[in-house]
Amino acid sequence: MTPGASPGGRGTMPGGCVFCKIAAGEIPATIVKRGDGVLAFKDLNPQAPTHLLVIPTHHVATLNETKDAGLLGKLLGFARDLARESGIAERGYRVVVNTNPDGGQTVFHLHLHVLGGRPMTWPPG
Ligand code: AMP
Ligand code: ZN
Repeated sequence: MTPGASPGGRGTMPGGCVFCKIAAGEIPATIVKRGDGVLAFKDLNPQAPTHLLVIPTHHVATLNETKDAGLLGKLLGFARDLARESGIAERGYRVVVNTNPDGGQTVFHLHLHVLGGRPMTWPPG
């Protein structure tokens, strides 16, 4: 478990968590949408013309630690609204939650990637 996180995945801010720092305004990010306990900002290394990240503002390390179905619904609905507001909903987009090393997760604060603005390929790499 991430140091500082509680067993339920909801806990104090671990010192090194970059997304906790973005949520706290301690490091800069291009914030595109704020909601009740959720936040969206531009990915620093975009993989598509639109590449946004949706996070809970409190620390949750991975999808595995997320016991709160309400939070998951809120994050997904927020991503859906964000896609519409970003103008990618009609043509289509992809929502991705990389989880743990085999899933390609590199930042251990739960986040949804919202990718669009180009056709996506399948299967993913
Ligand atoms: P993942 O590999 O699924 O954990 O995704 C982490 C994502 O966070 C990557 O797409 C990174 O480009 C992005 N990222 C890392 N640090 C920052 C940052 N400071 N601001 C915005 N995006 C970031
Ligand atoms: Zn965090």
